[in-house]
Amino acid sequence: MKIKSNYTDTPKWKEVSIKSRLPEELNGLNEIAHNLWWAWNYDARSLFKSLDENLYEEVGHNPVMLLDRLSYDRKEAIVKDVALMRKVKKVYANFRAYMDVEPDKKRPSVAYFSMEYGLNQVLKIYSGGLGMLAGDYLKEASDSNVDLCAVGFLYRYGYFTQTLSMDGQQIAKYDAQNFNSLPIERVLDANGEQVVVDVPYLNYQVHALVWCANVGRIKLYLLDTDNEMNSEFDKPITHSLYGGDWENRLKQEILLGIGGILTLKKLGIKKDVYHCNEGHAALCNLQRLCDYIDEGLTFNQSMELVRASSLYTVHTPVPAGHDYFSEDLFGKYMGGYPEKLGISWDEFIGMGRQNPDDHSERFCMSTFACNTSQEVNGVSKLHGWVSQKMFAPIWSGYYPEENHVGYVTNGVHFPTWAATEWRKVYDKYFDPSFMSDQSNEKIWHAIYDVPDDEIWKTRMALKKKLVDYIREKFTQSWLRNQGDPARVVSLLNNINSNALMIGFCRRFATYKRAHLLFTDIDRLNSIVNNPDRPVIFLFSGKAHPADGAGQGLIKKIYEISQRPEFLGKIIFLEDYDMQLARRLVSGVDIWMNTPTRPLEASGTSGEKAEMNGVINLSVLDGWWVEGYREGAGWALPQERTYQNQAYQDQLDAATIYSLLENEIIPLYYDHGRKSYSEKWIKVIKNSIATIAPHYTMKRQLDDYYNKFYNKEAARFKKLSANNNQLAKDIALWKETVAERWDSIKVVSKSTELFDNGGETGVKFHLSYVIDEQGLDDAIGLELVTMKPETDPSDYQIHRVFEFKQVGHEGNNYTFELEVEPDIAGTYRSCVRMFPKNANLPHRQDFCYVKWLD
Ligand SMILES: *Cc1c(COP(=O)(O)O)cnc(C)c1O
Repeated sequence: MKIKSNYTDTPKWKEVSIKSRLPEELNGLNEIAHNLWWAWNYDARSLFKSLDENLYEEVGHNPVMLLDRLSYDRKEAIVKDVALMRKVKKVYANFRAYMDVEPDKKRPSVAYFSMEYGLNQVLKIYSGGLGMLAGDYLKEASDSNVDLCAVGFLYRYGYFTQTLSMDGQQIAKYDAQNFNSLPIERVLDANGEQVVVDVPYLNYQVHALVWCANVGRIKLYLLDTDNEMNSEFDKPITHSLYGGDWENRLKQEILLGIGGILTLKKLGIKKDVYHCNEGHAALCNLQRLCDYIDEGLTFNQSMELVRASSLYTVHTPVPAGHDYFSEDLFGKYMGGYPEKLGISWDEFIGMGRQNPDDHSERFCMSTFACNTSQEVNGVSKLHGWVSQKMFAPIWSGYYPEENHVGYVTNGVHFPTWAATEWRKVYDKYFDPSFMSDQSNEKIWHAIYDVPDDEIWKTRMALKKKLVDYIREKFTQSWLRNQGDPARVVSLLNNINSNALMIGFCRRFATYKRAHLLFTDIDRLNSIVNNPDRPVIFLFSGKAHPADGAGQGLIKKIYEISQRPEFLGKIIFLEDYDMQLARRLVSGVDIWMNTPTRPLEASGTSGEKAEMNGVINLSVLDGWWVEGYREGAGWALPQERTYQNQAYQDQLDAATIYSLLENEIIPLYYDHGRKSYSEKWIKVIKNSIATIAPHYTMKRQLDDYYNKFYNKEAARFKKLSANNNQLAKDIALWKETVAERWDSIKVVSKSTELFDNGGETGVKFHLSYVIDEQGLDDAIGLELVTMKPETDPSDYQIHRVFEFKQVGHEGNNYTFELEVEPDIAGTYRSCVRMFPKNANLPHRQDFCYVKWLD
């Protein structure tokens, strides 16, 4: 036999994980590392850093990886280091003291669903503002000790990291996350096995591993389909955030909504309110409907209970921002649900359409969310109004200004975003009750007691920290990627931490208009290159990999930044993430934002700047419409001057240049005899005293309770008491009204006076007799008057007058109204009939409307 040159088979690898053993004295550190509490506790982070500074940098400030990679010798040395061990004990004691507080059960409990969470840069399960908001929310829920849990995804690749090629082309890199070295834990069942949730897709199941990120006292459950139980087709469901095609997106949304509820069920968790952060998770309401139906309730009864306990928060101001699915694709996965619900396919898909019977409409997650949630809100006052208009077609019969869509303005988690340097100032001067009373403007007013030079020193320390950070973080990558080393060195040398520094950092979505500043390059050149009054602009942000225009903007800014005259004056910083954001929002002097009105639903990075004495210069859009105070920042007008966007861009650019040239730069450099401008410090103090108090996450969380959670939980409690009696009663009542609605008749009316017009101060009298068809006092009438605003074709609600029901003979109910017109003019008026029941939360909850002749 000939001996082969090679005879081997393939290795049968087994996964073996060896955990680094910590000396017993350091066990507490392991516990802390696995709780993201450290992400907003400076002492904890500083402790991890002091365990091994170089390694801490190497592992990207990830304490789990740090502990894993500590050398044996180093561990021994730590245990013998008395001072360091004292610090370990102290931080652990603080951690336990925080964790061991009894949960506050007085406020309603909440289950929170979101596609992304920005908790810390080491956990790459976020892309931008939406995630940041959700992450901040969980941290505040923990600090406020409320009963809340959350559901999201553990992405294998998360969102991409960004580098730029030599010519400024964005390069997106997706790195696989090693879950074992992240600050998360497996959720285990009674047998010590990781919990798996089986999620039904049309004719098979997807199996999701359940992980948990401890966010202080809050549990964030993360689902992960990248495992051997799933086919190659389904593993990628949780691969990347906003990646993949529409089919994968639908599969993700099924997993988040339906899988999310199944996860909570499997873990035995039930909450009072279900909060859907953006439409992605809206199918959670579908699973909850199915669960009530399984308990023996009808579809309509179930709907009462699900609606009463759900809140939908919308984050986009334009219909194009919602997720839509074609009937084919939607049917491919959702075809089995009508049977479970006991309704037809058309009825089911109609729940996601503005016009349920219009087969050309695709299924819209947001519409479904609106139809299955009692309450809906936008994320700033202006965005609340924009959302009222955007969703108004769902509730035809009512005008945008009449519907129930509300708002809670976004905030930011103070301990995460206020730099340690500032927290020390606040601790020293603010009342000790500050942290538990963050929205109290009076406490913040103590900023006026801080000496000017202390404010300035704090600001300068943070500016310097930012410049050091840039030198440290980018020198290597710029030398590697940007070709000419001489140019890179010149760039780095040019960065002057005494210059007025202006930051523009956010996702590069085109509506944010990063290009605005470059409208007049010569003017910009003279602004940044004035030797007496230097100015530096810092840009940072990622463009979605599918957004060519956004990437084009980055390229353009990068190219300009490489011109000799702009070197070190216009700087693009790659890979905007939470860590870089923290440096930037505390390190620059001015935070600039220039969105196309009204496309910035809220924006939050400007609020982060507020916590750090950084002044906002922004279009009055999103949160800044509410936040702006004269003498505490700068604003571009809210109203558009031009319909033509190009003209508007030019006008806005000119306004920015002139604000910079005539107000901002002179003010900043108005030094007098000091090394800083007292007038500038005054603006800083004004902005901290009058704006910052209203934009903390504490205020946002309290708003959600006061405006929505408390109300919904109370109503749900009433509906579900005594074996869901009231829910059943309301469902039955609605069914009866709906059946007879078309046969309800006007028997007689007297409206002549009104029809002929009148004079101000002279009363009109109207009356109707309505045959309610056996419904016992189930109807209300109101006179709706409309008036054209500026545009004669654009009628808006002027006033609405409700009729009094004054008596009845059998089924014939008499309604009367006396109106005294207050303002002369031409009106439109009509009488609107609606179902009336004190147990309904609002009219849109049962949106039957009939306009009477
Ligand atoms: C705060 C933050 C955002 C959101 O900023 P906006 O101003 O709301 O666009 C996006 N990315 C990161 C990394 C952030 O920290």
